[in-house]
Amino acid sequence: MRLFVAVILPAGEVQRYQQELLAAVAGRDDAPRLIPPERWHITLAFLGEVDDARRSRLEPRIAAVAAGSPPLTLRLATAGTFPARSTPRVLWAGVDGDVGALLTLAAAVQSAAAATRIRVDRRRFTPHLTLGRWRAGDGASRGVVDPLSGYTGAPFEIRTMTLFRSHLGPKPWYEPVARWRLDAGSSQSGASARSARW
Ligand code: ATP
Ligand code: MG
Repeated sequence: MRLFVAVILPAGEVQRYQQELLAAVAGRDDAPRLIPPERWHITLAFLGEVDDARRSRLEPRIAAVAAGSPPLTLRLATAGTFPARSTPRVLWAGVDGDVGALLTLAAAVQSAAAATRIRVDRRRFTPHLTLGRWRAGDGASRGVVDPLSGYTGAPFEIRTMTLFRSHLGPKPWYEPVARWRLDAGSSQSGASARSARW
């Protein structure tokens, strides 16, 4: 199965930012195809195809990472495109706040994957929220970034991270298969990592 680890945002901030995004793209024919807000996430590690045996060795390692990691405070801020200069393919929102801790968390999850012999792509990890994509021939332009680049959202807390199974195809969706609390520093830390299952 195709897996990745990500954090998701509180519904209130998703709704607020969706309003900003819809206002920014309104009336533009150079805007990207938008990703529905129920799929919004910030990827920490893309694991690719993982079989059941490897997944069952991986999960306790990620649970241990979560148990030893503190909750994070983040905020949506700025926006941009990948690539930054030539024809854009992806529109993204940036994050600020505890970005150092977010990078540390991502590195720890990637190490957990590597320890399970899952090859992860560690190339420059830039935390971001993908908002939309342009396809070839879409008449892409970076202009849609301008109205979003000045946005600074309210701070929100990230208290969990989620292992998602990615279902590709005409109607792609992400199935949460395990979720762990970021538990360092909580009053109950020291208890075994709690995880919810679907
Ligand atoms: P699609 O590629 O069909 O648009 P998707 O990108 O939404 O679908 P996946 O390709 O399964 O779904 O990716 C899941 C998450 O992992 C996304 O956030 C994606 O940006 C990220 N991701 C995918 N491939 C890589 C990779 N090689 N390196 C880093 N992150 C990746
Ligand atoms: Mg992809």
